Amino acid sequence: MYVSKTLINQLLSKTDIVDLISTKIYLKKSGKDYFAKCPFHYENTPSFTVSSEKQFFYCFGCGEHGNIIDFLIKYDNLSFIESLEVLSYKTGIKIVHQNQENVADNYELKQRNSMYKIMNIINIFYHKSLQYYHYNQASIYLKKRGFNFDVIQEFSIGFSNPKQISVSHYFKKSKENLSLLETSGIIIYKKNTANFVDRFKNRIMFPMKNRNGDVIAFGGRVLNNTLPKYLNSPETILFKKSNYLYGLYEIKKKNLKIIKLLLVEGYFDVITLAQYGIHYAIASLGTTTSNQIKLIYRMTNTLVCCYDGDISGKKLAWRTLIKSLPLLHDNKELFFVFLPKMEDPDTLIRKIGKSNFEKIIHHAEPMSVFLFNTLLLQHNIIYPDGKIKFLTCILPLIKRIPGQKLRLYLRKELGYKLGILEEHQLEKFLFSDKKNNIYIKNSQDIQTIMNTLIGLVVQNPKLSQLISKNQEKKLNQINLKNTDLFIKIVKICKKNIQINTAQILEYFRDNIYYCQLKQLATWNHMISKNMIELIFNETLSSAYNMILVSRQNILISRARIKGDLNKLERQELWSINKKLARK
Ligand SMILES: [Zn+2]
Repeated sequence: MYVSKTLINQLLSKTDIVDLISTKIYLKKSGKDYFAKCPFHYENTPSFTVSSEKQFFYCFGCGEHGNIIDFLIKYDNLSFIESLEVLSYKTGIKIVHQNQENVADNYELKQRNSMYKIMNIINIFYHKSLQYYHYNQASIYLKKRGFNFDVIQEFSIGFSNPKQISVSHYFKKSKENLSLLETSGIIIYKKNTANFVDRFKNRIMFPMKNRNGDVIAFGGRVLNNTLPKYLNSPETILFKKSNYLYGLYEIKKKNLKIIKLLLVEGYFDVITLAQYGIHYAIASLGTTTSNQIKLIYRMTNTLVCCYDGDISGKKLAWRTLIKSLPLLHDNKELFFVFLPKMEDPDTLIRKIGKSNFEKIIHHAEPMSVFLFNTLLLQHNIIYPDGKIKFLTCILPLIKRIPGQKLRLYLRKELGYKLGILEEHQLEKFLFSDKKNNIYIKNSQDIQTIMNTLIGLVVQNPKLSQLISKNQEKKLNQINLKNTDLFIKIVKICKKNIQINTAQILEYFRDNIYYCQLKQLATWNHMISKNMIELIFNETLSSAYNMILVSRQNILISRARIKGDLNKLERQELWSINKKLARK
């Protein structure tokens, strides 16, 4: 999708990459750059750098790099547009109305903005229906279950009251709104009656908010015996269920340090726990996905998953375990809590209170215990063939874990369980661990004259000022690969005197040169700061020489073909030779 580059440029110029990244990971200043342990690969010594000058990050360990938009996309699992929305929210720069030049291209942005607006209106609509009609079925139900006023406000719980006007009726006069509501999944078009009807009827409404606090979807719970008991909004351009964690916005809003996160099953669990002062519960609303676990581990090192103690609860826990394995670096912890029969967090905490509930969480089963116990139940390891089967089940799972210490611990534990205490005996069963491949991008093939110029100017945009208007014209005659690209960058830089590396790159995001430019932006040219200008000028004159060299080649080959040159040509060649010899 195309978004006006001017707008993106504005967003970038108003955002500081160091400020934004330091709200997410701890950055330490060293010299003019900032360092941290890389959030994208596990490491003991920091190789992740953030440059305030270039507004760029780069990891020497895993090669991950980019500007703040790339960081948000990668770190927070956002789409390009969502990352722009975060910047828009932080800077206060609206992303739609400013740029009229690309009205058609801004369609998706406009659509998203209108959807946010209408979802927030609908949220107020449902919320008021719950509040202003005291003796409605929903508020009676919530009261009976023990929810207090504050928590109902905090989570903006609402009611799709069948006795009140329906959403589809309320908006029936505005075609535009109806179509938006349909796209948002709030109303459904019925072909047989040629009418719009509400998706949610007679349900307690739970708004799902994104990181900016905008409502992006709803969940509704029935008040009678209608099925399904819980109904969620369909996926829309705003709402991707597999990337969403219910309750996360409310936790972040509290601005507390997130030490651990408790993964529970439903809306009511999150809300009741919050009412009892547990502000670290989130719900995955169905099967937990890898993306959700990734998101969780971005915010905390400790995840405690809470499930029913019955067979279906254990099955769900197992699925979560399997999905978590590739994310278990040595600094990450995973625990499981299995609740007593017929209890969920919502009912249990009401019976036993906060401190007893937290004791249960504190004594949660570590991932290793759950892993071994589950597989040991399925295999009889008294006999050799049982041992082999057990091994063939558990070994591939252990191998998926990236944390070396955790892997080693599980191997030891495995030897102990099987009665193979000799390390070399166990070795026979185990394949050797491959070391994580650390790769550093090879920059050898990029060192041509033009790439040097591009790299230098991308890293030091002010160099563009050294090129005069006349020289700019001369550049057009250079017949080297990527000359056009260099000219384009110089023009962009000259137009925006304050431009930085990150902003230049953003101009080229959808361009075929984007990868090459990103590489050049992180290229370590080993040129000391005070020499950069000189080297740039020298490289530039070598580039101009290339004009002479190519003319020289033409004249020489012409002489060869024709046998001789005319007088003018001879003079030209002679002067070129002299000029080149002087250099
Ligand atoms: Zn890294």
